[in-house]
Amino acid sequence: MTNKLKYFIGNWKMFGDLASYKIINKINQFVLKSKNLTRNSKIVMCLPNTLILPFEKKLKSKYLLFGAQNCYHKDGFGSYTGSVSAKMLKNAGAKYIILGHSERREEGETNKIIKKKIISALNQKLIVIFCVGETLKEKRDKKNFFVIKKQILESLDKKLNFNRIIFAYEPIWSIGTNKIPNINYLKTTISFIKKTCIKNFKMKKVPKVLYGGSVNSKNISLFGLITELDGFLIGGSSQSSKKFIDIINNYYK
Ligand code: PEP
Repeated sequence: MTNKLKYFIGNWKMFGDLASYKIINKINQFVLKSKNLTRNSKIVMCLPNTLILPFEKKLKSKYLLFGAQNCYHKDGFGSYTGSVSAKMLKNAGAKYIILGHSERREEGETNKIIKKKIISALNQKLIVIFCVGETLKEKRDKKNFFVIKKQILESLDKKLNFNRIIFAYEPIWSIGTNKIPNINYLKTTISFIKKTCIKNFKMKKVPKVLYGGSVNSKNISLFGLITELDGFLIGGSSQSSKKFIDIINNYYK
């Protein structure tokens, strides 16, 4: 088992109700049983907003933390019907927040809006999981690096607190498709993200980069070969305690 801290972050998307607490409880029991895991890993579940407060109140765990999947781009309170701010999510118990997910970008979110959301979330001391990634067409047209660099440069700037930003490389063509990038492509992209940030934002520390896209208990061992990776953002497979636990177990096998 590697000693480097690894993140296993679930993204429940639009899934779950109060009864889904049993999934959280099983994952928490599993984490508590392993001393190595509590030392070497960060386990986070990014829930729908409706579940953060009830689950947080019930679980109260040091080892399984909760996150949100989006926030409004203006912080605090205000007349923005239907919106939820980073401050409200923080109050509900979120410690992390996914921003810039491709499923939000598809709904019209621009890099400019994502930047506002990131600033808002950082003002609330949330840890931001900032998603970047290219479409299949952009990959085929060899525009993947151009697109990722643009997402990074237009959504971040050097004044931000990079200690609270974790990158998630999520090629859009691999989300929910059972297709994963080959190891070399993934390694090159992870390095590109790290280098782009260090060069443009004068970062002192190498940023953390996760991979997300069709991670499951079978393919997780392949990702173990990529030492540059700091962990995983797991969508569909995080909605089942067995699948999520199998991923972690197989990663450390
Ligand atoms: C995601 O939605 O962030 C994701 C990685 O989804 P999946 O694991 O289902 O591909």
